[in-house]
Amino acid sequence: MELFDCHCHTERSDCAEDVTLEWYAEIARNSSQVFAITDHSAHICYPQDAKWGFWTNEAREIFERHKDYAEAEIDSYIAEVRSVQTGGMLLGIELDIFLDGTPVCNEERLGDFDILLGAAHTFPALQQEADAQQVEAELKLMIRRLVAWEIDVLAHPFRPLRLKNYAISDDLIEWVVDVAGEHDIALEINSHNVCRDEDICMAKLAYEQGVALAAGTDAHRKVEFGEFSYHYEVADAVGVAAPELYWGPTQAAMQAAK
Ligand SMILES: [Zn+2]
Ligand SMILES: [Zn+2]
Repeated sequence: MELFDCHCHTERSDCAEDVTLEWYAEIARNSSQVFAITDHSAHICYPQDAKWGFWTNEAREIFERHKDYAEAEIDSYIAEVRSVQTGGMLLGIELDIFLDGTPVCNEERLGDFDILLGAAHTFPALQQEADAQQVEAELKLMIRRLVAWEIDVLAHPFRPLRLKNYAISDDLIEWVVDVAGEHDIALEINSHNVCRDEDICMAKLAYEQGVALAAGTDAHRKVEFGEFSYHYEVADAVGVAAPELYWGPTQAAMQAAK
């Protein structure tokens, strides 16, 4: 049985390579794979000449200047995915937020998605490469802000720290699992850019505490889609069957999405 893939990108994400919405639609029409299209809200909302503007010091300024553009682009993203949605395809988004909790997405649209992934891709302490304590404190604040928007899944919780070579303590992993339990959200095991030790530690704790885990390929390329070997490896390390370990939308939610 295939797992539910909570995390797939299309050409709307600037870092995507050869994946298109039409390619996913074809899969949805011809297979039983269940998956969510989750493009980066920061790529959708930022203008063509500043697609990576959210990752810069001018993030807020650019965002404020292009609010109308962002609203129109979010609407067009929703309409485009809905127009081809069929089979096991869900409409989601990988939501970015500012440190003060402002979502990089029209707030009024957040309820329109079948699934909301939250990601703390970047925040001031990380951009400034501040000391580890400050980075961890801001990451926790970012996660608190994301759960306040009722995300369903916290995407790759440790990747931002890992990419900048910050240590990820067991205490931080425990904190993340506790918060996910408190707010009933799933934690993503992401195979696009692997944090193996942290993922296994998080998965064991989550399983013990009854916190949900979600499998995400974070597909940016066709070859990544449907490739769950890493998720099976993590399930093996936990000592449970993968379909039992990973969360998926219920049939009722799938019907309601249509
Ligand atoms: Zn991400
Ligand atoms: Zn992603």
